[in-house]
Amino acid sequence: MDIFEFGAIVQELVRYFERKKVEKDVIELWYQDISHVSSKSLSWIAGKLKERNERFPLNLPIKVRELYNEWSEINPDIKHYRECKECGGDGWLNVAKIWNNFPYNKVFRCSVCRQADAPSIPESTYAELERYGYKRITCDPLKIMSEAQKENLRAMVAGKIKWKEGLQKIDFGEEEEDELPF
Ligand SMILES: [Zn+2]
Repeated sequence: MDIFEFGAIVQELVRYFERKKVEKDVIELWYQDISHVSSKSLSWIAGKLKERNERFPLNLPIKVRELYNEWSEINPDIKHYRECKECGGDGWLNVAKIWNNFPYNKVFRCSVCRQADAPSIPESTYAELERYGYKRITCDPLKIMSEAQKENLRAMVAGKIKWKEGLQKIDFGEEEEDELPF
């Protein structure tokens, strides 16, 4: 899916749960984690999010990923992925990097099987990404964050503080605003 489709779903959920507007930069950050989600699954995912939650999910990207996995299982005919030892067969590499003391998640297309359909996202392998300082994600990134970082993240997601202000609060001294290498 593209970021506009995702933005439309976020807006729909914001209205449905009567939540405060989600800032554009937060939507962009969330999108990085779930850009591999198929457009075909979106209305199903949005329906389940409304059905299974009392309020706007605290961590929307994780919920969307989980629901996408569920959708893929019940729609095997729509997803035609081949087996691949590098990516596990879905065509995507999930990695994280600590940048200015903050963990960033990113996805890359698997360059071994090249079966992810998103030409705008760079291709790589885990070995190559490790050379750039990325770590393969094998656990929930929340587990590797400090309590202070989690508090800030919650406040940012809940819209209590702006994303950039929140980042500065957990940015321990580094003022650089460098771009990630990819
Ligand atoms: Zn692969």
